[in-house]
Amino acid sequence: MGKVFGLLGHPVGHSMSPNIHNDAFNQIGIEATYHAFDVGLEFVKEAVHGIRALQIAGCNVTVPHKVAVMEYLDEIDEEARLIGAVNTIVNQDGKLIGYNTDGRGFVQSLIEELNEDLKDKRLLLIGAGGAARGVATALMLHGIRHLAITNRTLEKADPIVQLAKTLKTPAKAVDRAQAEKSLDEYDVIINTTSVGMSPNVEEVPLDLGNLKREAVVCDLIYNPLETKLLKLAKKEGATTINGVGMFVNQAALSFEHWNGVTPDRNRMRKIVLEQLGGTTC
Ligand code: NAP
Repeated sequence: MGKVFGLLGHPVGHSMSPNIHNDAFNQIGIEATYHAFDVGLEFVKEAVHGIRALQIAGCNVTVPHKVAVMEYLDEIDEEARLIGAVNTIVNQDGKLIGYNTDGRGFVQSLIEELNEDLKDKRLLLIGAGGAARGVATALMLHGIRHLAITNRTLEKADPIVQLAKTLKTPAKAVDRAQAEKSLDEYDVIINTTSVGMSPNVEEVPLDLGNLKREAVVCDLIYNPLETKLLKLAKKEGATTINGVGMFVNQAALSFEHWNGVTPDRNRMRKIVLEQLGGTTC
């Protein structure tokens, strides 16, 4: 029957992962299938043990289980440990190893878009939830000049500032008013909140009045493909990046962990865009 891969999450009905991974298996000629498993909060432990019991070759993990799965794994990769969440599980002969490809997927999409390195960039992160921690960790491991974090609940930015100390990256938490006032200090602004996501498409997480023209504005959201924040940034002359690249890259990096080969990311992107076009966006 070939290898079995899966997604553990709740809900998973609209996930794009089965389509892109199954297409990549076909394309590369790997005999395998990928299924979305809707796992209730009370069954996380059983689901992870089930990976071993059923010899499932690997899994992605999505909301709300990225933290909960960790205690049932045999080994956690260093980056996933720093992030505090796992989105990829590899079953290596019965040993379950957890990785996190979300942040690295974002950093890859940012570098590809900028076509230059991030080492001398000053970045502003909007948000301090799970995605923010993944993105911040990957950015700091990659190397940046400075990271500022703003969040509705400002104290939630503290763990990221603490992590920055460990990783020797200059960082600070700033409230929304400070962030907006000093916006022209930042080369890259990244929205990691859900503000602006469908159906609340008229919402923006930050006023862009002081944005500098050569700035890059990113939104992790991909539904809609162009959030109001990105529309306003484009009007100001900024370069904009949506969340599709991050989604495709995290999937491609998971695929590499499982199979040791890189899938065709352009093909993955095409499938994602087709699926988004046909859904609620
Ligand atoms: P999360 O852990 O629940 O964090 C949510 C963040 O959004 C928090 O910082 C929260 O602020 C903020 N927020 C929510 N509603 C807000 C509001 N009305 N006003 C101001 N701030 C608000 O969620 P997450 O997992 O980090 O996901 C965040 C976003 O990233 C989602 O849109 C998700 O779709 C996207 N994402 C995209 C990818 C991709 O591959 N492109 C991957 C992962 C996530 P408080 O702390 O004040 O509550």
